[in-house]
Amino acid sequence: MAINWTEAKIAEVVAKVLSEVNGQGPAGDRNWSGSQFHGRKLIGVYETMEEAIEAASAGYAAIRSMSVAEREKIISSIRSYCRAEAHIMAELGVAETKMGRVEHKTAKHILVADKTPGTEDIVAEAKTGDCGLTLTERAPFGVVGAITPSTNPSETVICNSMGMIAAGNGVVFNPHPGAIATSNYAVDLVNRAVYAAGGPKVLVASVIKPTLATADVMYKHPAIRLLVCTGGPGVVRAVLSSGKKAIGAGAGNPPVIVDDTADIEKAAKDIIDGCTFDNNLPCIAEKEVFVFENVADRLISGMLKNGCVMLTREQADALAKIVVVEKTDPKTGAVKKMVNRDCVGRDCRVILEMIGMHVGPEIRCAIAEVPFEHTFIQTELMMPILGIVRVKNIDEAIELACKAEHGNRHSAHMHSKNIDNLSRFAKAVETTIFVKNAPSYAGIGFGGEGHTTFTIAGPTGEGITSAKSFTRLRRCVMTDHFRII
Ligand code: NAD
Repeated sequence: MAINWTEAKIAEVVAKVLSEVNGQGPAGDRNWSGSQFHGRKLIGVYETMEEAIEAASAGYAAIRSMSVAEREKIISSIRSYCRAEAHIMAELGVAETKMGRVEHKTAKHILVADKTPGTEDIVAEAKTGDCGLTLTERAPFGVVGAITPSTNPSETVICNSMGMIAAGNGVVFNPHPGAIATSNYAVDLVNRAVYAAGGPKVLVASVIKPTLATADVMYKHPAIRLLVCTGGPGVVRAVLSSGKKAIGAGAGNPPVIVDDTADIEKAAKDIIDGCTFDNNLPCIAEKEVFVFENVADRLISGMLKNGCVMLTREQADALAKIVVVEKTDPKTGAVKKMVNRDCVGRDCRVILEMIGMHVGPEIRCAIAEVPFEHTFIQTELMMPILGIVRVKNIDEAIELACKAEHGNRHSAHMHSKNIDNLSRFAKAVETTIFVKNAPSYAGIGFGGEGHTTFTIAGPTGEGITSAKSFTRLRRCVMTDHFRII
């Protein structure tokens, strides 16, 4: 049988061989923590946030004297390490968070290695005229404080590090408490790669036990000049109210519209491929569908051929009561509805067992026709469950899809060959990412043109962040000279 040697496959095999040679077992043996991996102390991980900031500040001072070419060598080195250890981080991420799928997480790390921009993203501007020459250059902020999520932990740490280092910064992370080992493994990987390329021993740093208190130290520390937050609404709000320059990459609830001009077979496959990628953890992934009623049966039948199971209304309602739970705030006593962490990013089979439904591993997504008000439409569940609403026409589709997006302005997708419909929805929904006739992940460069990021900054407007998002503009003026015409 011929093997398709994709880069992901090669990296997977290399990682497995390396694990065996080094005597390292798979991540599943749990010989890892926030500070060590198989007995090896992680580099750049500290007891306190103050120590982490001090180390990243020293790293930043060291790279200030390095040339852009030397910085680019560091970025290339991070790419190589990320590719080689993609599978280890994918396994570790799934073992620690119990979310997502190893093969998809491996692919996400390869994507980060291949498509995160480096120093080429930092372009200076020159303006000449009668008065001489003015340069505008993109300078580093200094030390960046970054908050990273549990859903793409090591992917975000490495992608952020590449962009922030390419821009000339040092970085301190306060990773999600549910993904400390995976995030800190990535911090260690970046430091190993930086040092191997002639950089300082520590350029990115983190803490062994990140908490809201360590995040608070980061927000207030004078050495932190820029905050970058990738996470849910609570943490984005906290960072944006810090009083510092901040980039916020927050929650989404991406709707998909399918109209009656679409290639329905392809739309069904694309939607399910996007929705089930890493068990729906990506914030850009399809979360609810609005389909024209005259093609709805065909779309559903296409989905059923692509690894879906259809829930009855009773099953959907029973599941909705499990995937969203009520929690009482111990301080205020207020009752809040929250997505059940035990369901986020889990395999469809595992989630369905919670309502006594047994399906095989070939079932990757549960679909259900539900009313617009249903939890499956309104809530960003981040699990392979997809609510479907039938609509009469494009007006109703756009109105409901925009409402379901809740003004996050994050991501939305559409399957159609009608350019008027495509343009109308794109204009109305105002999202950072809008994917036409493809799975949602095309929007972050996976099978689509353009660079990748795991920090999509809708609220603060940087969009698909890259190195230049982490720079500050500086102007240098020379009068009368340096003009050659
Ligand atoms: P989360 O909001 O639960 O946690 C994110 C990070 O914030 C963690 O480090 C956590 O410890 C910390 N945190 C949470 N509340 C905090 C507070 N008040 N102060 C300081 N730190 C706090 O996020 P998660 O569950 O890991 O990620 C899922 C959410 O993140 C989803 O809503 C998803 O859409 C969003 N997300 C967005 C992007 C994007 O690029 N826009 C990328 C990934 C995830």
